[in-house]
This record gives sequence, C-alpha cells and structure tokens, in this order.
Amino acid sequence: MMNTFGQPSRRALAIPCRHISFAPFVPKRFIGIPSAFLLDDYLPRYNLLTSVDASKKRSLAYAHLRECNLCPRQCGVNRYETTGMCLIGATSAKVNVIAPHRGEEPCIQGFHGSGSVFFSGCNLRCVFCQNHDIAHQRNGFDLTPEELAEWYIKLQQIGNVHNINLVTPEHVVPQVALSILTARDMGLRIPIIYNTSSFDSLDSLKLLDGLVDIYLPDFKVWRSSTSKRLLKADNYTETAMESIKEMHRQVGDLSFTSDGIAKKGVLLRHLVMPGKEDEGREIMRWLAENVSRDLYVHIMDQYHPDAHVGKKRRVTRRVRMGESESDASKEEVRYAEINRAVRDEELGSVRDAAVKAGLWRFCEVNEQNSAFHL
Ligand code: SF4
Repeated sequence: MMNTFGQPSRRALAIPCRHISFAPFVPKRFIGIPSAFLLDDYLPRYNLLTSVDASKKRSLAYAHLRECNLCPRQCGVNRYETTGMCLIGATSAKVNVIAPHRGEEPCIQGFHGSGSVFFSGCNLRCVFCQNHDIAHQRNGFDLTPEELAEWYIKLQQIGNVHNINLVTPEHVVPQVALSILTARDMGLRIPIIYNTSSFDSLDSLKLLDGLVDIYLPDFKVWRSSTSKRLLKADNYTETAMESIKEMHRQVGDLSFTSDGIAKKGVLLRHLVMPGKEDEGREIMRWLAENVSRDLYVHIMDQYHPDAHVGKKRRVTRRVRMGESESDASKEEVRYAEINRAVRDEELGSVRDAAVKAGLWRFCEVNEQNSAFHL
C-alpha cells in the first residue's frame, strides 16, 4: 500500500514502527513533467568541450573583439582601441548587479534563486525598456573575464544558486565566452543561461554553442515599423527569427530534472504590448510553425510604461496666420500609443492564438494543483 506521497505506508511494510529508524522525510511534489522533457541527471555542455575546442573558442573570442561584427549593428571596430554602438570595450564587461535572483520563472529561479549577472549597456534602444536604469546607462563596475568567473563560482558556492543567468549579454559575448571557460577550469558545474533580446548574430551564437545550456530569448515585436519606432532597430524581426531557430537547433526544447528545475533548452518570452496583440499573435504562429510546437513559452503580462514612454515634451511648430508666420508650441506625451498597461483581452488573444497554433507548454499556474506547468 502506498501513502499519498507515493511511498510504502508503514502498514504495507508490516514492521512495527518502534523497530524502524526513518530517514528525514522530504515530501516530493507531483509536478508532472512529460517524460520527453525529463532528464535523469545533467552535466552542463561546457563540461563536455575538449581542451582543443576550448582553445578554439578562446581564439575566436579574441578575433571578434579585434573586429567586432558580433551583433547586427556590425560596427566593425577594434574594441581594444575604440568602442562601437554598445560603448563597451574589449578587456572587461560592465556589470550592474550580481546576485541570486528570485524574479524569474519558477523553473529557473527554483528554490535558491538564479545566479544573475546584469550587464550594463545594450545593443537595442527600446523606448519602453523595463530595465532602462541598467541597460541604457553605463553604471556599474568593470569586470575582466577572470573576475566574472570568480563571481560565478561565488554564486555557486555561497549562493547555492541553480544556474548562472547572464542578463543582456549580447554585446559582451566574447568576454562571457572567456569567463565561462575560465569558470569551468575553476570548478563551475551549474548550467549557463543566456538571457537575450534575440538581437544576436549567428557568429555570436556560434561562439556560444557548447557553452550555453539554456537560451532565454525575448521575441519582442513583429512589424519592422514597430521595431524601428520602439526598439530603434530596422532588422529586429528577421534577426530574432534567425537567432531563435539557431538557439533551438543547439539546445532543443526545455527539459528539467525531476525537481522541476530547467537544465537545458529554450524558454521563449514574449511581453505583450498595449495595442500590439496582433503582433503577438503573429509571433506565436511563427514559433509554432518554424521552431517547435513543444517550445516552452512565457506570455508575459507585466508591461508598464517606462523609460521614454509617457514623458512629456514641448513641440514647437511654425504656423501661418494670414500673412504672418509664428511659432506655436504644445506639450506632447511621447509614445502615447503604449502609455498604458496591457488589457486582459489583449493577453487572452495572444494566448488563444498560441494554443490555436499548436503550442501547449506555457509558463503559467495549473489551476488544478497550483503548481506551474512544466
Ligand atoms: S557588440 Fe557592440 S561593437 Fe560589436 S557590433 Fe554590436 S554594438 Fe557594435
């Protein structure tokens, strides 16, 4: 006979209780991981690289820094001598915060938090950036790849975190690659997460292949006119499509160990934007048809006006009054079309389109057992 936790009951064992010494009891929650996405155990991919592969990655990282075309901005600069659009040089990365973080998806933050490293700077210029105090300003401290590696080890040993979560690292991929290789030699043994806007180049992702275990890409907007106006990038959508396909080719669909902690795969995020739900629906359809119907998707509802959105500015225009011209000025709200929260019906329409397209693995609470779907 089994008890409610699936263990043999005392009665079934038919041994008087006073003769048994029980190990400390740790109840196991039923978290219902589909067997196709359940891992017995996991060894991070960087631990599988040979020393020859590791040396090749080091050389490639230095070569990219000498002529940087690492992201779609294609600056072509020698970062040892100058900086490109991201304003970050070659020898270090600027870091704003390093800490165990409990604001991520349950399968990422787990029980002890995700070891997050928030990089300063970004290669996009989203006008609504929800993280703009970090991403748009060059605040923080400069860390070499070796110093970064020491922090990963501290997060692992002292923070007891489940993973190293590299947030907005697109513009410092060579430094990040070097840091992972150094940390592996120092004893790192937890998965690496690459938490990206998806404005990555294929060259950059090639450098990361074998070093990253979990890709956490955003797919932000669908129309070029929107990416031009709101992200200040013309070619965002094409770049994101190419990048997400490559990420999925490298690590596949999101898989977990039996404790419900994600270890390998792609976790796709889409932040639903006010009035842009039609773009969200297109993104869901494209993902289902071109990446995988088993893709693990987080449809996010936490958009709020931030950064430049909703700021007031005075606009002056020349106006003709009969024979004379004069200046007329009025106050305008910047990006007024997204200066509000997202409505439930907008979220629902993106969710419905995702289901209709065949996606079924969503990061949301299962109403039947209050656990998160895995
Ligand atoms: S990573 Fe920086 S320097 Fe390199 S191409 Fe992108 S913006 Fe330019």
